[in-house]
Amino acid sequence: MIYIGCHLSVSKGYAAMGETMVGFGGNTFAFFTRNPRGGKSKDLLPEDAAALLELLDRKQFGPLVAHGSYTMNLCAAKTETRENGLDMLQKDLARMEALPGNYYNFHPGSHVGQGAEAGIALIADALNQNLWPEMQTTVLLETMAGKGSEMGGTFEELREIIDRVEHRDHLGVCLDTCHVWDAGYDLVNDLDGVLTEFDRVVGLERLCAVHLNDSKNDCGSHKDRHEKLGLGYLGEDALKRIVTHPALQGKPFILETPNDDAGYIREIRMVQDWM
Ligand code: FE
Ligand code: FE
Ligand code: ZN
Repeated sequence: MIYIGCHLSVSKGYAAMGETMVGFGGNTFAFFTRNPRGGKSKDLLPEDAAALLELLDRKQFGPLVAHGSYTMNLCAAKTETRENGLDMLQKDLARMEALPGNYYNFHPGSHVGQGAEAGIALIADALNQNLWPEMQTTVLLETMAGKGSEMGGTFEELREIIDRVEHRDHLGVCLDTCHVWDAGYDLVNDLDGVLTEFDRVVGLERLCAVHLNDSKNDCGSHKDRHEKLGLGYLGEDALKRIVTHPALQGKPFILETPNDDAGYIREIRMVQDWM
């Protein structure tokens, strides 16, 4: 058994995403809490939330992995961009309370010339302002490819952010296989070594979800270009070892591969066949 699904559009509502994923043969999914490039969020009506929660329970779905907007940069150099990000984070997390027990994943941000130390401080600050003791969502920092001044390209940076957050019992990490590979962690030849390193630096108990992607580029490229499963540099054998690794059992695996619906249905079945 594996929790596997892909990104879905929220345009027809929340329960509709659950129905779509049942049709795709999966049992988890991801969705953007608003247009990925920013903009207005889709209202989450109480009856829609209730219908989705009922479906998740009835179909025994794993935890969902919502995704914050790409434009949300909590460590931006410009005050206006940063404040805009804080506003999105606050509203997204408030909305997530209607779907208790799920994940909210986001890109830590880009420090744009301020330096990693300043970036870490700003991200931790944003989380300290927006996490609260009774919240029912776990907020996940996504591992990044380390493109440009992107934060989260090393496990150490994630650890430093987490260490500075007061309510870090509500914090976890989402491991993106394309990003980690592009960041220079060799998932193909040393999966055990990478997970051991993650455990040493961050702690495997923080690893809550996986973005399952192949990569168009080689290890250490810092590029972040996703590829369909088996067609990239990671390849089918390495992806299969990831999906079946004992340390990752029970986690939701989300496909973010360049596919249409038929492609996702095919990849969901392919991953299920690996188990
Ligand atoms: Fe992402
Ligand atoms: Fe990702
Ligand atoms: Zn990516």
